[in-house]
Amino acid sequence: MKNIVILGSTGSIGKSALDVISKFPDRFKIVGLAAGRNIPLLIKQIEQFRPRIVAVSDEDTYKNLKSQTPNPKSQNIEILFSTDGISSVATMPDADIVISSIVGSAGLLPTIAAIKAGKVIALANKETLVMAGDLVMSSVKQYGATLLPVDSEHSAIFQCIRGYEKCSIKKIILTASGGPFVGKTIEELENVSPESALKHPNWSMGRKITIDSATLMNKGLEVIEAHYLFGLPPEKIDVLIHPQSIIHSVVEFIDGSYIAQLSQPDMKGPIAYALSYPERLLNVIEPIDWESLSGLTFKKPDHRTFPCLSLAYSAQKTGGTMPAVLNASNEIAVAAFLDGIIGFNSIPVIIKKVMDSHKLQPADNIDVILEADKWAREKTKEFIVHR
Ligand code: MG
Repeated sequence: MKNIVILGSTGSIGKSALDVISKFPDRFKIVGLAAGRNIPLLIKQIEQFRPRIVAVSDEDTYKNLKSQTPNPKSQNIEILFSTDGISSVATMPDADIVISSIVGSAGLLPTIAAIKAGKVIALANKETLVMAGDLVMSSVKQYGATLLPVDSEHSAIFQCIRGYEKCSIKKIILTASGGPFVGKTIEELENVSPESALKHPNWSMGRKITIDSATLMNKGLEVIEAHYLFGLPPEKIDVLIHPQSIIHSVVEFIDGSYIAQLSQPDMKGPIAYALSYPERLLNVIEPIDWESLSGLTFKKPDHRTFPCLSLAYSAQKTGGTMPAVLNASNEIAVAAFLDGIIGFNSIPVIIKKVMDSHKLQPADNIDVILEADKWAREKTKEFIVHR
């Protein structure tokens, strides 16, 4: 029996993880949950999974949850709030696996807390590695923690390289669906609405990552994530548009062989693999109907129409605090696009302006990184107002 903690239990990954866990009650037990503000869903999850500790992000939500959870003591549930509260859930002594699936930079500190507690972390929060990759990876070593990828592309690579030495890998190829706007021109994207950007053709995900998928920023963040997870330089990490999302990524070996991982696009697959690693669970997702696959297609990403991908490669190359700036600026720009304040094509323009005006620092401690994150958010808002 593995004891599981989920950070971000009411989000898309959290819900899929609970779905997997509920099907294998003899293998997994939920001991802690952390969530944002979706109290009705969190209460349902508490009733179903009976965690011992629950944490929410802010005090108002905490008070609200407490008032709706009569006698938490008699139910043996402790309710906490704030980043410290969430970090307490992330470091529960009897937790065997911590699923880190809080969206965005809010996931950073709780994930670092779990790393310092030496946990096995099923990592869905790519921002942790984008913002603080060097620091996080050295902490993983120092505290004996383990990172298991949950991002579908990284799970695919992780599955493909099992048993191979790094020196036998020529490069890895991260596949990208290309999102709802693949094949469009920059002119055609001038006036697209948030609603059309939110219609992802294959994957069902949260709002922020769905927009990131439409701009290709998601793939850019994943290049940085892959760099840290697999210890490969960015020039050994390629991106390939594959609109069907059946091949989740590919490893090219030095002898000219390739190994790819294929499945239906369903996040329950990578989540279950991380939870059961090194074993596999029975019947987690629907099998592929091979005869109905009309053809798998591939093409190079269009960097001119989707500049976010190049911005991410460039932030990675620059290093220091630049990836954290890219990430923070993107979060604010995406939120402004979702609110109808800026257009789709303005997202990369604004991020680039913020990156260009950033005074680079070495990202060797968490305060410097958080400071750069804060600076980038304010600068992005400034550029949005004065654009
Ligand atoms: Mg992904």
